[in-house]
Amino acid sequence: MRFLTFESKGTQRPGLLAEDGRIVDLTAALTTAREQGALSFEGPIPGGLLGLIQAGDAFLHAAEALSGLAKDGELEDASLDPDACRLLAPIPRPAKNVFCVGRNYAAHVSEGYKARKMKQVLPEHPQFFTKPPTAVTGPDAAIRLDPDVTQKLDYEVELAVVIGRRGRDIPAAEADSYIFGYTIANDVTARDLQRRHDQWFKGKGLDGSCPMGPHIVTRDELPNVGELAIGLTVNGEVRQDGNTRDLIFPIPVIIETLSLGMTLEPGDIISTGTPSGVGYAMDPPQFLKAGDEVTCRIEGIGALTSWIADKEAA
Ligand code: MG
Repeated sequence: MRFLTFESKGTQRPGLLAEDGRIVDLTAALTTAREQGALSFEGPIPGGLLGLIQAGDAFLHAAEALSGLAKDGELEDASLDPDACRLLAPIPRPAKNVFCVGRNYAAHVSEGYKARKMKQVLPEHPQFFTKPPTAVTGPDAAIRLDPDVTQKLDYEVELAVVIGRRGRDIPAAEADSYIFGYTIANDVTARDLQRRHDQWFKGKGLDGSCPMGPHIVTRDELPNVGELAIGLTVNGEVRQDGNTRDLIFPIPVIIETLSLGMTLEPGDIISTGTPSGVGYAMDPPQFLKAGDEVTCRIEGIGALTSWIADKEAA
């Protein structure tokens, strides 16, 4: 299944992408189906996708039932034309910072050392940092580029994992069962701020620097998550062209390491690192400019486009 958050007529609502491409308004569909006795979803129906993910298996079972009803054409009243909706990030305002893994593709680690003329050392353990919830933005959104803030705005396409089950000290062998699904993230980075402050948080935390979407694809639909093409274009020019099989630390290891002594909760997001081809490592370096169109693509999930806007436009 594919879940999303959309805005229509000024309100934000969680949605399910039906097989015919229409968007099922989950709040409306769950309410109607329950009234008709077609669902056993207990308690108040959450108004957002985060709340639905937090409802756990009860929500997944209900969504499966709705998927079946949509296929049979029985949810017409709760379905919308996608052209009449604007997609937002699937979880527009995460409850916590977005967890990120730095330097997790060997070729990207190499290009970073080469650009900084340093001796290469591969990380022995995953490197974690976070992006604040205010950085999150959706598909086709503008990313503000203020030259007084940064002169070196860069992109990083990443596979992002959405946690579906609460857990601590999760063994790698069981990590899969804690995953709700996957989406695309762009770990937009102000390289000058990243270097100036030594610690990465400032350079990776600007408003709009975490585009995500367009959908969350549930775990069962991506059994080959360790072997997906992942890439990025700027104005149609291919800049990143990798594969998730090249992750230094695969997803189960990331979850095991991050959850060691620290609870992960439903709706938490972990972005797993970027392949090679970032702008700062190009010769000469190429940073993003106002007007640029940046598109991230991951096989089996889709495409996520952002626009770079000057500070007046965004
Ligand atoms: Mg990154």
